[in-house]
Amino acid sequence: MLDWRHGQPYSSRFGDVYFSSDSGLAEKRHVFLQGNQLAERFAALSSADKFAIGETGFGSGLNFLCAWQLFDAAAPPGSSLDFFSVEKYPLDEQDLTEVLALWPVLQRYTDDFIARWHRRVPGWNRWSFAGGRIRLTLVIGDVAEALPEVRAGINAWFLDGFSPACNPEMWTQAVFENVVRASRPGATFATYTCAGWVRRGLEQAGFQVSKFPGFGRKREMLRGRLPGSPLTQPPRLTPATAIVIGGGVAGCAVASALAKRGVAVTLIEHAPALAAAASGNPRGILHTRLSAGMNLLQRFVLASYGHALALLDEALPIDGFARAECGELQLAFSAKEAKRIDKLAALGWPPHVLRRVDAAEASGLAGIELAYGGLWFPAGGWLVPPRLCAELAASPGIVQRTGHRVESLMAVDAGWRVEGKDQREQGWVCEAQVVVICTGYQVKSFAPWANFPLTPVRGQITMVPATPDSEKLRTILCANGYLAPSSAGLHVLGATHSFSDESIDVRAFDHVENLSKLAEISPALAKSINTDSLDVRQLDGRASVRASLPGAMPLVGELLPGLYTSLGHGTRGLLTAGLSGELIAAAACGQLPPLPSAVANTLSPATRLERFQRPDAGKRGKANTTCRTRSD
Ligand code: SAM
Repeated sequence: MLDWRHGQPYSSRFGDVYFSSDSGLAEKRHVFLQGNQLAERFAALSSADKFAIGETGFGSGLNFLCAWQLFDAAAPPGSSLDFFSVEKYPLDEQDLTEVLALWPVLQRYTDDFIARWHRRVPGWNRWSFAGGRIRLTLVIGDVAEALPEVRAGINAWFLDGFSPACNPEMWTQAVFENVVRASRPGATFATYTCAGWVRRGLEQAGFQVSKFPGFGRKREMLRGRLPGSPLTQPPRLTPATAIVIGGGVAGCAVASALAKRGVAVTLIEHAPALAAAASGNPRGILHTRLSAGMNLLQRFVLASYGHALALLDEALPIDGFARAECGELQLAFSAKEAKRIDKLAALGWPPHVLRRVDAAEASGLAGIELAYGGLWFPAGGWLVPPRLCAELAASPGIVQRTGHRVESLMAVDAGWRVEGKDQREQGWVCEAQVVVICTGYQVKSFAPWANFPLTPVRGQITMVPATPDSEKLRTILCANGYLAPSSAGLHVLGATHSFSDESIDVRAFDHVENLSKLAEISPALAKSINTDSLDVRQLDGRASVRASLPGAMPLVGELLPGLYTSLGHGTRGLLTAGLSGELIAAAACGQLPPLPSAVANTLSPATRLERFQRPDAGKRGKANTTCRTRSD
């Protein structure tokens, strides 16, 4: 809880104010914006440039909003801003809203920002604003752990912990050294303090430090610069063109993330329509399964969950038809599951992310009697995956080429060439600077050298007719399978997992398996739906094939220069495709990654392919960046 002193936000934990009681906004602008000469530096950017700010201590986000406002006013169209920050004690939504209401002049920015705040998760968060021009990477965690995980790319730092005397952990030598490590040559910093040991620490880390007039009653502040110039190490340029192969949710998400960055994208899909394979189910659930270990995969899944919710808020509003945020209950239906749930819940989560509930509360939330409690994810829900794909691919920057089968991929001077046949068996050729493969296990048909251990996994869902009792179900229930609340008189019940099975026929036997999972979720529901009397040969359903990898970590990132993959999302595609698309687009455009280095490295197909077989990516041919049919 935030305290207030004399109408200003105050932290009792640290015994300090969030900003000057004279004028917080003027102080922020003076110390951090002027201290880093941002107006001049933003104005000097060219239209394809990017700039990255790093901050220690996000607090109310006032610095972020001030930087966004200045970027809006001073930077040329086409340029973009990354803002990285870390915060160990995030304000709750009410406090944040009250603090930011002090600055009506920022309201245009504040409203969009506050609308994302309830999507925050512990760890790394990535949200885009202003059509993708402003990217916020906010780590909810300790500065000492977060900074070593930032890839070098920051141009200017705001050192804004509470005063060094009250908050020494924010001003350690290790923090200063990590600030330098995460900086680009010529990076600057500014801070309101002029404590001698802070100055000496920053100098020892590598900054040339000078004093600058402070704000208000503070006579002096510090600012500094690292040697070198950003020009000595120019960042990767944004590519003009990209081809995305695969029109499922992974492909549509990366196409959308690239198009937001001004890249002209050709989205190629073998089937006559997008979302024809694993992303084609009439409904899919946003299911976040975590364990207490919080290893790299868990950190990726959690960051993906927060990102997916924010992306959905942009792309697919909650309307009860294309998307519902009904919450999800993960039931403690077995001793093993109860143990996982208890261990996980004991980590201490913000209740808007998840919390432990007993059977009585779970029953109240679900609207039906349940025998078990479990974990409650209030933001869990379902959506119509083909609708999400259509929305993501609808950008004017994306040209869709459905009914186009890819047969080969080869490196050319200016990038990559993709060749294939259309539905009339007419040959076509397409070239671009960047190619992203998002075809699941089918990658082997046109790039056999990419011999990742991708296994096809068949999954079938069952559409179960609702009954008056089952209509009362308000949330998703998960045990070994899952059941979603009814929509248009049907529940979705899923799903089977058949490894190394590529057929997509709908099988009565798989319906039986799904119905047996319903009995595990809730015997009362199974009885009300009268599963024993259902004719499984008459039930509707859908089967599709997903690609999974040992360890369940997808392959996301750059495989060879200009060639990226977003593969192997398994059953988690709805959750992980969005952040994977963002990771690839940021890498391709030389921007700050949305994930910690350790997670990005583990996702990287380049490091993992080395363990299998290095490809001969084909012959080098002539450069071209157009798509044409063979007869053109
Ligand atoms: N920049 C903020 C703004 O614009 O509102 C004000 C930041 S306030 C002066 C300092 C922030 O640092 C507080 O929000 C505090 O919770 C955070 N902080 C303190 N110790 C931290 C730590 N060890 N790791 C991360 N954040 C920390």
